[in-house]
Amino acid sequence: MSFENVIISGLGISGLITASLFCKEKLQVHCFEPRDFSKLSEDQRTTAFLNPAIEVFKKIGIWGEIKPFAQPLKEMEIIDAAGFEKNGETVSVVFDPNEVSLKSFGYNIPNKRVSSSLLDFLRKKRNFVLHNEDTLVDHYAFDPNILVKSAKGKVLEGQLLISCEGRDSEIRKREKISSFKASYNQLAMVFQVSHSENHKERTTEILDTGGPFTIIPLRSSASQLKSTIVWMDNPKIINKAFNLGKTEFNAIITKKSMGVRGKIKLASEKQKWPVSSQITKGLISKRTVLIAESSHVMPPTGAQGLNTSVEDIIYLYQICKKALRSNKDIGEDRVLRQYSLVRFPLIGGKVFGIHLLNKISMTENRFLKTARKNFLKHLKENSAFKKNADKGRLRIIKWQKKYFLLVKKKK
Ligand SMILES: Cc1cc2nc3c(=O)[nH]c(=O)nc-3n(C[C@H](O)[C@H](O)[C@H](O)COP(=O)(O)OP(=O)(O)OC[C@H]3O[C@@H](n4cnc5c(N)ncnc54)[C@H](O)[C@@H]3O)c2cc1C
Repeated sequence: MSFENVIISGLGISGLITASLFCKEKLQVHCFEPRDFSKLSEDQRTTAFLNPAIEVFKKIGIWGEIKPFAQPLKEMEIIDAAGFEKNGETVSVVFDPNEVSLKSFGYNIPNKRVSSSLLDFLRKKRNFVLHNEDTLVDHYAFDPNILVKSAKGKVLEGQLLISCEGRDSEIRKREKISSFKASYNQLAMVFQVSHSENHKERTTEILDTGGPFTIIPLRSSASQLKSTIVWMDNPKIINKAFNLGKTEFNAIITKKSMGVRGKIKLASEKQKWPVSSQITKGLISKRTVLIAESSHVMPPTGAQGLNTSVEDIIYLYQICKKALRSNKDIGEDRVLRQYSLVRFPLIGGKVFGIHLLNKISMTENRFLKTARKNFLKHLKENSAFKKNADKGRLRIIKWQKKYFLLVKKKK
């Protein structure tokens, strides 16, 4: 048996990205996934990948393959439609990446395209071992290694076990790591549409009551007439809309979109997703680390869920790579404690921030709705303030980097 195994449980997009990076090292990467991979194509979601994730795709070497299907996200528009039905008044504000010296905020890419490119990449790697339609049923961590057992009877030893099992991680349950949870009485419906007006590479988020209605441009032909919609709302409203016939559904989504893309027509299957926030009380235990949705779940607003997971993966990979370069054990306590120390406060901040954002976007409280509208009005009228709101994000990234360095120095 080799002690140079890393064991990844769960091959959603996060698991696939993690496996692809670790396969770049001199390690055997064993991956367990209960699903049959031929079913990957059922995911109707697209992900707005921010620039750090694009850098990871470049590093793995799959960006050339994905880029033709990736829609640059050039502008971000927020429309506050509260009160529109009564007085026809809306407030809208547009964020331009040039204002913060960026070419785009990122790219919108179909999940199935990303998953299949990552899987194709992995299948060509000799150190990738896929245990498809198999799950881990037990694991025991000792000082020099961790032992795992699978449902099909496989027994393996490795240095590190990474849980990418998603929000209901069994590894997390076996480790008895509990989590804080919040649910919102909300569902997210996702589908693709064609529309009569050009999207001009702009994402539009419409806020009213119940949650955001977000139109994210898709790369199609030069005519730019396709987008993905994520509609978050009360389950009653979502379930009713979900069961409508095509004509009625098209009329409803055209109305919800306030005509910003002209006439809209459904162009795919619809899917419903639960909306919740979750953060585990810990990220690590002996030779085991929880990453991505195994440790944090956020409502699908602000494109933070998977992008935060990519940040987890980048950091875990960096510290493991450094340990490997100095012939150290990647699963030892010191390495995992460093991961937890750095990532925990950052993940906590993100989950809390998105929780507040979602609460504000779904509010029925008149006072909060007025405050939300006034805030957007202020952003619109005061370009310096708006620039600072954009720059604030960049500044937070800078602080995060400083924090990483400080923690490194202390080691
Ligand atoms: C409508 C919607 C839109 C979104 N849009 C964005 C966006 O634009 N930008 C963004 O950053 N994020 C977005 N997100 C969030 C993002 O989609 C999720 O964060 C991401 O898909 C989660 O990936 P994951 O790999 O962590 O988990 P999952 O995709 O849940 O993958 C977990 C994997 O583990 C497997 N598994 C489960 N149990 C076990 C087990 N016991 N053993 C082994 N394997 C197991 C599962 O089969 C699955 O393959 C969106 C989410 C939704 C719902």
